Amino acid sequence: MASPHDYLERCDRLAVMGGTFDPIHRGHMTVAESVMHEFKPRRVLFVPAGNPPHKPGKPITDGEHRYKMTLAATCENPGFEVSRMEIDRTGPSYTVDTLTRLREICPPESKIFFIIGADALLDILFWRDAAKALTLCEFVVAARPGYELKNHIEMLRKEYGATVHIVESLQLEISGTDIRERFAADKPVSNLMPRAAEDYARKHGLYGAFGAEFSPTHFQWVKARLKERLSPQRFHHTMGTIEESQRLAEIYGADANKAMWAALLHDCAKEYGADKKRILCKRWGIPLDDIMSRHIDLAHGFLGAESARRDFNIEDSEILQAIRYHSLGHKNMTLLDKIIMLADYIEPRREEYPPLAEMRRLAYTDINKALIIGTKFTNSELKDRGDSVHPWSLEMLKELKST
Ligand code: ATP
Ligand code: MG
Repeated sequence: MASPHDYLERCDRLAVMGGTFDPIHRGHMTVAESVMHEFKPRRVLFVPAGNPPHKPGKPITDGEHRYKMTLAATCENPGFEVSRMEIDRTGPSYTVDTLTRLREICPPESKIFFIIGADALLDILFWRDAAKALTLCEFVVAARPGYELKNHIEMLRKEYGATVHIVESLQLEISGTDIRERFAADKPVSNLMPRAAEDYARKHGLYGAFGAEFSPTHFQWVKARLKERLSPQRFHHTMGTIEESQRLAEIYGADANKAMWAALLHDCAKEYGADKKRILCKRWGIPLDDIMSRHIDLAHGFLGAESARRDFNIEDSEILQAIRYHSLGHKNMTLLDKIIMLADYIEPRREEYPPLAEMRRLAYTDINKALIIGTKFTNSELKDRGDSVHPWSLEMLKELKST
């Protein structure tokens, strides 16, 4: 099997960027790109810290998450690599150990640059074996707003024999601390970090981005991602469904916020191709009965609910249920389930179909009747085409008629 350090064994010019990357952000990326441009290393190796000794007591996100977030942010750039070296190390991780190890792996004459921000360079003498670390590689320092470096660099050169370069890079006033606070306060972060890293953080509810259903910024993020995932027509329909769900929720006294989230995501998996639908059903453990196996599109509500949970960090079981059953229906439909199903049928942007006017007339006074008309129409269409009607739809119909 290839060693995780294959490329290092042949790398005669390497730049290394250590950090907690909690999360990785545009400040890191910009500096790494500038170093790539100016110092021309073959690779920039990002090394997320395991248990950083210089931040004792401060809670830090699990190393595996920080590693994967860093990987997500950098994987598009063939010059960037991410190392598990520190997160896999048990006990505290020290830069001096990492540099020693890299010296062992890389060819003997290789040049290693350690990229460091101004704030970290000012702290460097507090590091474990700082004097040794300073001789193991050359340092490339990036200015950060508010940090004065000149005298410090002079001192490191004179007293420690360190080689310290300064990289010309755009100074960005972005920090991990600021981004964590912004997440927790539900402020947007999209311009501050690579989108894949933001996606990862939101998907996994890092930085207090929990409580997804109640966060406007989270909503905007999901909406933006769906705009890319769906065709313009489907996205347009989704916006119409949200609008309609809000009207229905108000009239019937349902939770408008939950209705908005369920409507937003109800068709999130609808446009996956048939093969992808089948693969995901298998991977996500969604059982398919005969009818669904034959008409895989019927599973799109189930896939949508799973995707909402896995891709967009939606945990609320009522929202997930409304997404799951919005097209087939089921016994014991809740008010929210009915609202999403009906909103899907009658949203204002829908093109005309025979019973639409009648459903719209009934929608705000008798939700059950409106749904009966819609379901009967769908079922008769299916029968005309020679397709089978799903038994859940019939069960729902029976129940709606009896209330
Ligand atoms: P935190 O606020 O959690 O300390 P951070 O933004 O400083 O996060 P780190 O992971 O601690 O990020 O930083 C890793 C390395 O990147 C450090 O050397 C740091 O000085 C440098 N760095 C971080 N942000 C910037 C930035 N905006 N400009 C230049 N260097 C930066
Ligand atoms: Mg820092």
